[in-house]
Amino acid sequence: MIDKWISQNANDLQVALFFALFFIFSLAEVLAPKRPGPMHRKERWLTNLLMTALNIAVMGMLPVTFFGVAVWAQKQGYGLFNYFALPLGVLVIGTLLARGFISFFTHYLMHKVPLLWRLHRVHHLDTELDVSTTVRFHPFEFLAALVPGVPLVVVFGMSPWVLMLYEILDAVVTLFSHANIRLPEGLDRVLRYVIVTPDLHRVHHSSWQIETDSNFSAVFPIGDIVFKTFRTETRTPHETMELGLEEVRDERANRFLWLLSSPFLGRLKRN
Ligand SMILES: [Zn+2]
Repeated sequence: MIDKWISQNANDLQVALFFALFFIFSLAEVLAPKRPGPMHRKERWLTNLLMTALNIAVMGMLPVTFFGVAVWAQKQGYGLFNYFALPLGVLVIGTLLARGFISFFTHYLMHKVPLLWRLHRVHHLDTELDVSTTVRFHPFEFLAALVPGVPLVVVFGMSPWVLMLYEILDAVVTLFSHANIRLPEGLDRVLRYVIVTPDLHRVHHSSWQIETDSNFSAVFPIGDIVFKTFRTETRTPHETMELGLEEVRDERANRFLWLLSSPFLGRLKRN
């Protein structure tokens, strides 16, 4: 009964959780900011929020979802975790790690495949980083992410309910990791080995490519630790480091319609 209610209302629950956390983290950004600013909220937030609203609508209309594919694979008995009768703990940890790997691998491809970088660049063109950047993505990026993701969900035979749990963790951790908040340094130093922290993810938004090409993980940093892209030190301090990309630093970087059309414009320069 409760299962059915959750699966029917999962989308609404996720959106409600997202905005509740969005509010809490934006309050924390005012009370304890890491970067002193100016954050140019007036120029950035309207575009970032429009992009967020558009993406929430797009996510509700996707032709397939990881959850739907996982339910199908489970019924058919396809995939590693469906083939072997695993203890619950192994299934939960295995699915969380495998889902995290999909996210890491897809994000890595977004940076390395030129066509995909055109889409993902929209996220990195934000010249500041705060909670409003979290879902600032080109809507096509969600469609593109299905291509490597769907086959991997089937190959692993991921548990649908654990995938839903991952989505909740993803919302919580990505809002947290994009937020411009100052954590006690000792806490961040430990926490960054368990989940992605603001200081860790800010390195990925640095305009210096060596730093951009690090910390691809979204929820658990294990992908970066295993594949040696984990980077905690920055060339300049977090408070003053340049964020965004060198190639576009004018008002286009925050113009909604320009960003939507940007993947289809001419040649791209990589800084
Ligand atoms: Zn990225």
